[in-house]
Amino acid sequence: MLLQNKKIAIIGGGPGGLTLARLLQLKGANVKVYERDFNRDGRVQGATLDLHHESGLKALEEAGLLDAFKTNYRPNADRLRIVDENTKIFFDDHNDESSGNFGDESFRPEIDRGPLRTILVDSLKPNTIVWDSHIVSLESINDTWKIVFENGKTAIADIIIGADGAKSKIRPFVTSIQPFYSGITVLEGNIPDSEKNAPSIHNLLQGGKIMALGDSKTVSVSAKGDGSLNFYAGWKTNAEWVTQSGIDYKNTKQVLEWFKKEYFNWDTVWFELFAYENTTFTPRTLYCMPLDQKWEAQTNITLIGDAAHWMPPYAGEGVNMAMLDALQLSESLTSEKIVDLKSAIAYYEQQMFTRFVERGKETMHNTELMHSPEGLKKLLEMFNQFSN
Ligand SMILES: Cc1cc2nc3c(=O)[nH]c(=O)nc-3n(C[C@H](O)[C@H](O)[C@H](O)COP(=O)(O)OP(=O)(O)OC[C@H]3O[C@@H](n4cnc5c(N)ncnc54)[C@H](O)[C@@H]3O)c2cc1C
Repeated sequence: MLLQNKKIAIIGGGPGGLTLARLLQLKGANVKVYERDFNRDGRVQGATLDLHHESGLKALEEAGLLDAFKTNYRPNADRLRIVDENTKIFFDDHNDESSGNFGDESFRPEIDRGPLRTILVDSLKPNTIVWDSHIVSLESINDTWKIVFENGKTAIADIIIGADGAKSKIRPFVTSIQPFYSGITVLEGNIPDSEKNAPSIHNLLQGGKIMALGDSKTVSVSAKGDGSLNFYAGWKTNAEWVTQSGIDYKNTKQVLEWFKKEYFNWDTVWFELFAYENTTFTPRTLYCMPLDQKWEAQTNITLIGDAAHWMPPYAGEGVNMAMLDALQLSESLTSEKIVDLKSAIAYYEQQMFTRFVERGKETMHNTELMHSPEGLKKLLEMFNQFSN
């Protein structure tokens, strides 16, 4: 096997990195995951994710984790309401008999990020993940890599997989290609006990998802299994907004004042999202990697997930693509038919580049469409097309 006697370092323990670690361990590879979080509970994990038949679910099945997924997914959390800025409902699948079953191509079951991470972490051999390992750089030494951590420690590996997300520290060692600004910035927040802290939105949510569109702006809300809700407001602005706004994102009053001005045509019911005092808001400037990106494969380093193809979240593909990358890279690296590591990495990267052209195009199309003056109408047309 190509990975015989090779030490593999996966940088980043997100869905992509952990799925890859599991798949490679099943094939007997020597893997470590270096993750900057202090421990497995070190951070509130974001919104729910829908996994797709041909990507996220397929990777979990190959990883032998589909049963664990089935006991942790949230039936009916995929139910969606599409509303306007006044919460008038234009699309609602809460009353449909079923949203599908495992095995159906269109079934997209939801799982919270926290439980997904737990399933993946628990599937790994003890001590596979080295927590509190914030990588700051790499040094190439002969045929190996020296990994340099923020805390001054170092480690050595033969092969590096950058799975460290949107602002990857590994990506510059693979390519100098930079992302471009999508034109949209989002502000994300989480409200615990939404029934108490945001009752009207909680009621509208019905344990599922809301997509609200109006005035070229969006608000996406999803219910989480712990009774909290996660939301992000997305609007068109310049790439410097986050640093120039002057808002203290820990101060909900300041954030609410901004929302009232920016979303001035939106009903006051949305103010509930900014009423819970302890919400810390996370602003995110949404970038996208160039759709035609390509680079020459190397022998001992590559990228998966957002590190390879960061894009806005408006097609629900990010996690699914990260997990499919993990599956295809694991297959390439452990294939008996591929004769050397460079060819294995090149074969994986070719599939990843080709897929990103399609998915990235769809994502940018949705992102622009949803933040256009006719966003609601166009999104409804899309949904009606799918359901006919
Ligand atoms: C608001 C929002 C909503 C989204 N909604 C969806 C959705 O509904 N469906 C969907 O499919 N996708 C969604 N996405 C996209 C999705 O979150 C990403 O595409 C996905 O998480 C990528 O997985 P990953 O494993 O590549 O990277 P990540 O999930 O970003 O994981 C990277 C990991 O690397 C670690 N790390 C980062 N830097 C370092 C470092 N220097 N050293 C060590 N460790 C490091 C991080 O702590 C993290 O654990 C959304 C994104 C956003 C911003």
